Amino acid sequence: MKKGGRPAVSSPQARVDEFDKEPFEARIEQNKIFCKACCDVFKTDRQTINSHIRSNKHLANKKTYRAGQVQPDVRAAVESLLRYALDW
Ligand SMILES: [Zn+2]
Repeated sequence: MKKGGRPAVSSPQARVDEFDKEPFEARIEQNKIFCKACCDVFKTDRQTINSHIRSNKHLANKKTYRAGQVQPDVRAAVESLLRYALDW
């Protein structure tokens, strides 16, 4: 058991923490979870989340989302390399 008297229904934040490898965001005011990769909002029950993260749509979106996240860093690295090269 976790500390504190938490209600049986999990809060969106608790689910986001639980599925911390997923690009989720807590929508506390709606008591729902938002998937940043799919731009989808869904309920906080584990079954809904599990079926979402197993869906082909989510897996595909997650790949694109991750790739989109990596790109700016790569671009910055390339730019700093180019700047370094130009200084020579
Ligand atoms: Zn998703």
